[in-house]
Amino acid sequence: MPATLYRATVERVDVLSYNVRGFRLKLLEPPAMEFKAGQFVILNVPQGGKVVKRAYSIASPPHEPQTVELCIQHVEGGAASTYCWKLKAGDPVSISGPHGNFLLKEPLDYEPVFMATGTGVAPFRSMVKHLLHRNVTRNIWLLFGTRYEHSLLYESEFRSLAGIRHNFRYIPTVSRPKEWHGEVGHIQQTFQKHITDVSDKEIYLCGWLEVVKAVHKDLQGLGVPNERIHYEEW
Ligand SMILES: Cc1cc2nc3c(=O)[nH]c(=O)nc-3n(C[C@H](O)[C@H](O)[C@H](O)COP(=O)(O)OP(=O)(O)OC[C@H]3O[C@@H](n4cnc5c(N)ncnc54)[C@H](O)[C@@H]3O)c2cc1C
Repeated sequence: MPATLYRATVERVDVLSYNVRGFRLKLLEPPAMEFKAGQFVILNVPQGGKVVKRAYSIASPPHEPQTVELCIQHVEGGAASTYCWKLKAGDPVSISGPHGNFLLKEPLDYEPVFMATGTGVAPFRSMVKHLLHRNVTRNIWLLFGTRYEHSLLYESEFRSLAGIRHNFRYIPTVSRPKEWHGEVGHIQQTFQKHITDVSDKEIYLCGWLEVVKAVHKDLQGLGVPNERIHYEEW
């Protein structure tokens, strides 16, 4: 699947939290992208006569090839995220893709454990939807952490998926809860509490560099073999 340049239009913008928005892009030319769950696109951002390029993980699954969903955190003064904050339905955008090798290990003879904070959940939303679409019967774990409960992205979607697909184990964790009845602390603690045996698991981490590094180190401290930890850091 070589990377291709796509002309697309913004179909919808969703407010996912106070500083994260979801962008649903409809591909126009070419009209579809063949990609694998976990890959990313490069967004071409026009800026002062030049083009700034930024990578964004694809949050939608490969079985919906005519659209690409992105979830983007606003970074103060950030070139691309500030540009995205001005986008509205109908606006044209240019992306290239697919890129990247952060893919599910095949064959799927293990239980995947996805661990993310913030927008690091993007590739895992694609992977979870892909695996459920494939009717995988093994457990699929998603340990998702944010600071506040109102920052949990795709919360109602993940909860309803977990309600109808009992092998999807969605465990959100909040570090600074207000009115929250779920797990409190960091995703490493949730891992330690719920994942008692790693012998049939592969662990996937994604997100900002510092978070991925910290989680990785803690998993090693818990005795998770390095070859079972796969990660994408930004
Ligand atoms: C493979 C890959 C996938 C990615 N997927 C996503 C994704 O799905 N969603 C997403 O939101 N981002 C994702 N990113 C990060 C994204 O590419 C940009 O780096 C990010 O959006 C900031 O770009 P910007 O142009 O807005 O800010 P820039 O103009 O690059 O940065 C502006 C300033 O903000 C600082 N800064 C940059 N990022 C942060 C941060 N997180 N916190 C605090 N300060 C920061 C910079 O150091 C700089 O000083 C991904 C990166 C990679 C490599």
